[in-house]
Amino acid sequence: MDSIPTRGTTTTHSASSEVTDSSAAATALYSGYKTNNGVINVLPDGRKVFTIGHAAKKAGLCVGILSTARLTDATPAGVFGHSSDRSDENLIALQLEDFGPDVAMAGGLKHFIPAGQRGSERKDDKDLVRSMKKAGYTYLTTGLDLKSVDPATTPKLLGLFALSTMAYEVDRERDPKLSSQPDLAEMTRVALSILGRNPRGFFLMVEGGRIDHACHVHDLKASIYETLAFDKAVSVGLEYQKARPDVLVLVTADHETGGMSFGRGTDDAVNVAALEPIRTSLESISRKVEKHPENLETILKDAGFKLTDGERTLLNRHAPNSKIEAIPELRDEKGAFPKFTHSWAEYALGVIEGDRANVGWRSFGHTAQPVITYAVGPGAQEFAGEYDNTDIAKKMAKLLGFTLDPPVPGERTTH
Ligand SMILES: [Zn+2]
Repeated sequence: MDSIPTRGTTTTHSASSEVTDSSAAATALYSGYKTNNGVINVLPDGRKVFTIGHAAKKAGLCVGILSTARLTDATPAGVFGHSSDRSDENLIALQLEDFGPDVAMAGGLKHFIPAGQRGSERKDDKDLVRSMKKAGYTYLTTGLDLKSVDPATTPKLLGLFALSTMAYEVDRERDPKLSSQPDLAEMTRVALSILGRNPRGFFLMVEGGRIDHACHVHDLKASIYETLAFDKAVSVGLEYQKARPDVLVLVTADHETGGMSFGRGTDDAVNVAALEPIRTSLESISRKVEKHPENLETILKDAGFKLTDGERTLLNRHAPNSKIEAIPELRDEKGAFPKFTHSWAEYALGVIEGDRANVGWRSFGHTAQPVITYAVGPGAQEFAGEYDNTDIAKKMAKLLGFTLDPPVPGERTTH
């Protein structure tokens, strides 16, 4: 990312808060409108808005959607969906099928398979994998499948590589059960090889969806690996752009998460290298500890955590598998607990990672910190300077020669 010379600063506030969530941010980035947190492409007055994704389809461009989160999560859903509740992912899966992207790859299988099937979260017997296959999609479930895709004979591609979110990069590489999942760079490469065949062009959204998750739980190591994996996907885009100079590559974020600060207190010596020995995500450690707290030592050793006496004292303050809500000291001034942290071990090891690297965290949620937007290709200059996230949709539309459809009154969704 940092090799890209043209960059701007982007404000991210939503209609309901200084601090956005991913659904309000996605609405802004693709439609150009501010809405309330928790809502996808529906305005506070109930009207539905239309996106670059809808306009691209209408103009005969191909559309691709990639994420390491669920395909029905807020950022992918923002390209095509309408929902006043981002958590209604079963509805969003139906909307994805209706929208019909040319390429869609992510996690989130549980919203595409009928109730009763192992792992399903659907409340009905709709089998979206089956109906999308019937509609001409090549369906993939592993990285190996992905490697064998021939773009010349694969006009439509659906890849669902996990029931929920895909694995953290730091876990994927080591865990044989997870290493069958592809990395985001490989997904990007294959998506471009298919979408790039359309002479009218394409719109591809690629989300490094778990950087945010790692930052919510203050897992510095996982957040760095997620960011590097995303950066690798960016470099696939930049390589592609070199060969196809008519393509515009934009890199941005929907928001900052965690209030991460490199440097804290009075000490300015950041030491990320101190995290080198750590080999798994805190989420994975937490899962294991919750199941088998008696195996704590083996789990820590396997994860590469060799604790100092001070670190040991911190971890021993509570049982490692204690639920966060059982630990009064983690309650904030408003009485709330960190929402995404599962256990005391996960919390304490996050503190330990931060201490080792001298990296601070100020929030368990998102922050209002502006983000950086990078641009390469025709019109890149439009993205220099300071602007709002809603301007990104407007600038994209202008450069593509699109007029986004005006908002329409909300109708009750029938699904
Ligand atoms: Zn988040």
